Amino acid sequence: MLQTHEQLAIFACLNGRRCVVVGGGPVAARKAGELVGAGADVTVVAPKLDRVLAERAATGAIQWRREAFASTHLDDAWLVVAATSDRELNAGVANAAEARQIFCNVVDDPSLCSFIMPAVVRRDPVTIAISSGGHAPVIARWVKGIIESLVPQRLGALATLAGEWRQRVKAAFGSIDTRRRFWEYVLEGPVAEHSLAGRPDRAEAALENALADWQTTPAATSGEAYIVGAGPGSADLLTLRGRQLLAQAEVVLYDRLVGDEILQFARRDAELISVGKQAGRPSITQPQINRLLVQLVKSGKRVCRLKGGDPMIFGRGGEELDALVEAGLPFQVVPGVSAALACAAYAGIPLTLRGVTQTVLLTTGHTESSANTGLGKLPGGQTLALYMGVARYAEIADTLLNAGNEATLPVAVVERGTLPEQRVVVTTLAELAAATEALAIESPALLLIGATAALAERNAWFAPERVVVYNDPANAITRTTKVAS
Ligand code: SAH
Repeated sequence: MLQTHEQLAIFACLNGRRCVVVGGGPVAARKAGELVGAGADVTVVAPKLDRVLAERAATGAIQWRREAFASTHLDDAWLVVAATSDRELNAGVANAAEARQIFCNVVDDPSLCSFIMPAVVRRDPVTIAISSGGHAPVIARWVKGIIESLVPQRLGALATLAGEWRQRVKAAFGSIDTRRRFWEYVLEGPVAEHSLAGRPDRAEAALENALADWQTTPAATSGEAYIVGAGPGSADLLTLRGRQLLAQAEVVLYDRLVGDEILQFARRDAELISVGKQAGRPSITQPQINRLLVQLVKSGKRVCRLKGGDPMIFGRGGEELDALVEAGLPFQVVPGVSAALACAAYAGIPLTLRGVTQTVLLTTGHTESSANTGLGKLPGGQTLALYMGVARYAEIADTLLNAGNEATLPVAVVERGTLPEQRVVVTTLAELAAATEALAIESPALLLIGATAALAERNAWFAPERVVVYNDPANAITRTTKVAS
């Protein structure tokens, strides 16, 4: 019965309900203990019991049927756990349960289970259950360990406090949206701080104050824009703050380069609007995006404007800020890992290196004219990081060669940096044009020029099998083929 499709996660209320455990050993004892903990009326069926179970039976915490298992033991049961070491007997229990439509867990045999018992992190009344669908209990326990360390020990106290105040908050705010925001404020502000630090009285006082404040301050319910950098692509490179605000927004306006994996962090009921612009294609214009953003925030929405990389580096974040400032609307800006930093890191290229490069120029290959883009003779010790303009790499190389840069100046192109399909092309200024064409380099790609670009070959650590060294048009080699030869 191991399911390959999704399982429904439910929390069962077993208080006073009859549950059966078949088996009398330590595993059966553990399962019986969990069921008793949930308030179930537990019957253990086994010819003999280990010490723990025997004690429980003696005190009346469980009922003991000192018999071999028979399907009639399942009469009136809500669920059953088969925990014997006899596989055939376990299968018999599973079959009897199936015939009676009773949920059955067979210890260590997911193929016989119609329910599984997850790994659990408890912060009563908050319970976090983790399942690997029966495939890999070790992974479930590993995740449990991570969650145990992340979730504050006193979360339960905060949840209890919230539960006690729920009706009052509901009565105070008619709109669900306002209530939700209020509770988010409670979780992020002084109420949570006091509660999680073990100061329940001060937490309660802070909650009372907050409720009074929120009822008189309309600001608490007004919209806000979050201009958030989503990073270069890989979801784990989004900042924690960015993720928090994304999870809070009612509307998300996102760019083309922002992947689905990152959008998953948005609220389930958030409205997701793609405002992606793509070079050379008709699409929504920047002024239209600015207007949409202003309109949404004015209407009271919290809008997350999610942009690839960093919003303030070739992200047109500045223009959106202009529009928001002009309209007198509140906003926050969250930085993102910009492509130049991300690509350099994931290609093993230091942007500065003591004694080698001391300055970094972030520039664009997008504009027609090179006048304002710094594409002249590179000062010694400079790394040039060029965004966009893949279609113009040949032209850019020409401009740089004509400006007097060495033909052998190292160049690295990082295509789809930080994503699993990242490719790094290591070449020289003289051969950049040929490499771009021969290897069909595509956007998004970042061009890094300067002495340290050559280190990409030696320092390759991410997707090293897709580091291509292009020195001689007849001799483009990937790192792996070179190592093999
Ligand atoms: N605000 C963004 C840049 C937007 S301009 C930032 O800070 O990164 C878009 C350009 O960024 C692309 O044309 C490309 O040059 C670069 N870029 C963005 N993501 C990239 C990635 N994963 N790999 C390589 N280059 C990338």
